[in-house]
Amino acid sequence: MSDILQLVKDKNPGEHEFHQAVMEVLASIKPVMDQNPAYRKAKILERIVEPERVILFRVPWMDDKGEFQVNRGFRIEMNSAIGPYKGGLRFHPSVNLGILKFLAFEQVFKNSLTTLPMGGGKGGSDFDPKGKSDMEVMRFCQSFMMELFRHIGPNTDVPAGDIGVGGREIGYLFGMYKKLRNEFTGVLTGKGLGWGGSLIRPEATGYGAVYLAAEMLATRNKTLEGQRCLVSGCGNVAQYTIEKLLDLGAKPVTCSDSAGYIYDEAGIDREKLAFLMDLKNVRRGRIKEYADQYPSAVYTPVDPTADFNPLWNHPATCAFPSATQNEINGKDAQNLVKNGVMAVSEGANMPTTPEGIDIFLEHKVLYAPGKAANAGGVAVSGLEMSQNSQRLSWTREEVDRKLHNIMKSIHHTCLSAAEAYGTPGNYMNGANIAGFVKVADAMLDQGLV
Ligand code: NDP
Repeated sequence: MSDILQLVKDKNPGEHEFHQAVMEVLASIKPVMDQNPAYRKAKILERIVEPERVILFRVPWMDDKGEFQVNRGFRIEMNSAIGPYKGGLRFHPSVNLGILKFLAFEQVFKNSLTTLPMGGGKGGSDFDPKGKSDMEVMRFCQSFMMELFRHIGPNTDVPAGDIGVGGREIGYLFGMYKKLRNEFTGVLTGKGLGWGGSLIRPEATGYGAVYLAAEMLATRNKTLEGQRCLVSGCGNVAQYTIEKLLDLGAKPVTCSDSAGYIYDEAGIDREKLAFLMDLKNVRRGRIKEYADQYPSAVYTPVDPTADFNPLWNHPATCAFPSATQNEINGKDAQNLVKNGVMAVSEGANMPTTPEGIDIFLEHKVLYAPGKAANAGGVAVSGLEMSQNSQRLSWTREEVDRKLHNIMKSIHHTCLSAAEAYGTPGNYMNGANIAGFVKVADAMLDQGLV
């Protein structure tokens, strides 16, 4: 397997997040490869690490001052063995080819785990929506879609949101796609409810991460009731993680943005969550304002030179990293363990470094990797596609029930695969193995393409 990792490093120099994501999967699936020589013969690994297609394009747009601006747009169409490419768009200044390849690679296995017929893809831009006016965001989205529209379609590639891409951006992107193609189709998910969106899609990733945590805790005869929970981020995933934690009687005490975090000893209750949602989604303000509003909360700015994040150093039994990749390092994981963490459910993609994961596994923490824990988002995107194809909409209760069942099924699948390949209780191995086998078998069936 080290030869494959070396191949990936040689062919994709400097793309550290992509190397990291590949390394994790390769380590987990070694026993599967050993038992299935057909995969080696068909060069499944060599093919699965190579995107089927990479699209890179210029996105020119005009700011409010009338100045020309140029960003870079990407779409990675990673694997379509089990369905059309599916995965979000990320707008963030840190976006580059390596980050999107890691996300697209993870997406292949995640989508496979959902039980729905979706391949894997990811895209985005180094455009930063922060501080931009609505009109600037609209002009950027329109220009982005003026190129992307020729590569996507309801049966080809169906993007959704991710960091920096929420309902507002999906609306502008969909509007331009519809105009260019002159057709109203389910080409994007996360759409508004009045124009093809699904109930529970905004909530799905956060709710799903909490449902999965509840399943993991149940294996130790525990529930979320009364558990103190650390949440990072304060965007889409973090907000609905907090909401579902409150539904299930837990006590969320933190959330963050890229500038700092708040710790609220009294707990983030429903009224405070409503304030947070308005702050982030409507006023587009910073998390510091939460501490100005509620005296029970303490705001701590991020220290970029520190070797640990103090957010992860508060006593808590559950952690829900919901901001970005590599936000829990080895020291953070050690702090979590020292402070009594029992379960970690990753709302974000790859938020824990390999050193951090080793510490969780060594201490028997119930650790659900992002590709299992946050799969609820793409699962409900898949349900949105089904509703669009049938031209009907399911009720909130129906979608939530389907989401809950999918998360239970993912939990069961991960545990069974981990057990079958000799590492009982290791959700990371289980997720990688189960996700991989379905895609690898489809690739075998479809020949050398
Ligand atoms: P949002 O843009 O809604 O929120 C992102 C949050 O994370 C913000 O609070 C943001 O702070 C913070 N953040 C972003 N980048 C960084 C960074 N480099 N350092 C510190 N904080 C950062 O995104 P989502 O909630 O949609 O996504 C969060 C995570 O969940 C991502 O890893 C994403 O890939 C993953 N995910 C999302 C899904 C979805 O359905 N939306 C589905 C599956 C996974 P600030 O405002 O300061 O940038």
